[in-house]
Amino acid sequence: MKIKKIILSLLTLCMVFSCEDSETDSNLSSKSAIHDSPVVQNLLKLGYKIEDIKETEDFYLVQGDLIFSKNLNDYKKGETNRHASSNNLVSQQYRVITVGIDSSIPQSGKNDWRSAITSAMSKWSDLSGNSIAFVRSYDPNPDILIKSDNNALGSNVIAAAGFPLSNGKAFNEILINFDFYNNLTVSENSKIYNMVHELGHCIGFRHTNWEGEGLYDQYGNLIGANYIPNTPSQDANSVMNGGTALNSWNGFSSYDVTAVNYLYPGLACNSRLSGPAEGTCAYDRYNDPIRYNVYTIGTKQTVFDESNTSWQVSGNSLEIVYTSSSACEVRVKANNTTWPATGIITKTSGAAGCITTYNVSLGNCINYSYSD
Ligand SMILES: [Zn+2]
Repeated sequence: MKIKKIILSLLTLCMVFSCEDSETDSNLSSKSAIHDSPVVQNLLKLGYKIEDIKETEDFYLVQGDLIFSKNLNDYKKGETNRHASSNNLVSQQYRVITVGIDSSIPQSGKNDWRSAITSAMSKWSDLSGNSIAFVRSYDPNPDILIKSDNNALGSNVIAAAGFPLSNGKAFNEILINFDFYNNLTVSENSKIYNMVHELGHCIGFRHTNWEGEGLYDQYGNLIGANYIPNTPSQDANSVMNGGTALNSWNGFSSYDVTAVNYLYPGLACNSRLSGPAEGTCAYDRYNDPIRYNVYTIGTKQTVFDESNTSWQVSGNSLEIVYTSSSACEVRVKANNTTWPATGIITKTSGAAGCITTYNVSLGNCINYSYSD
């Protein structure tokens, strides 16, 4: 029982660390040396000391009483794939992901990444067969805010992001390093490549060549690494390979598509409202306080069934003043009698199950001048 348990736990760890260790192939002089065993290499990676590993005829005995199989195949089951995801993924209700571009990203010049960002969002959103979409947002609290690294990143790092949060949302920030490689001018296609890559991290993709990077982030938090079925041991064309800052956008690899379709299969209905954060005054896209509060709805499908769409708001303190299905937008205003003004906006479309609700709670902004 104990042996089985150990093998099982090693199997799990093996899937993570990979039992294939290409580095050990280079200077093999003696096959019998204990160090040369891929199994032993793996045990060392797990933190066991070489002096604690004894080889017997049938197994390795570690720390006196832990038995590990000598058969590498015992550890390789399931290990035929290398595209991998973090443990946290994006929940169904958060897969239409709003993306804001911070004012620290210039509107022109060498450091203007704005068009590359929107192109990269489209690359993901335009993939069919999955439920991930990125929509541009002017909301002050987008799901992902893209901004300057403010000199936080080293010269050899072009951009950085993180993995999905434990609340089921995409990682909330992408940093861009404007003085990458001593102010190298980055081509538009390279900007697009890097933004597609960072957005991929935000939704849970590890580097396709992630081995050796470990399971934890720099703060010691467990990221995890879960292999994605039907992807190969190496995929040179994957946009999620690490160490590729100078690459130019050349499309997703077919296995990238396999991977996103596996992690985020298509949903019958995939849309979501987003608006000002609860309990705050609403602001328009120019950051001016407004009385009409704009809620946007992202859709994965580009065909929006306008004729079958209706909008409702519950309660008496909010009223709908404008809707546009084609622009994916609904505006409400408070009726000026009850504060905070609360209600639930519901979008109903003809597609089965395609109902989206959004809780609204607005503070009193009536003393502000407003521009919308
Ligand atoms: Zn990366």
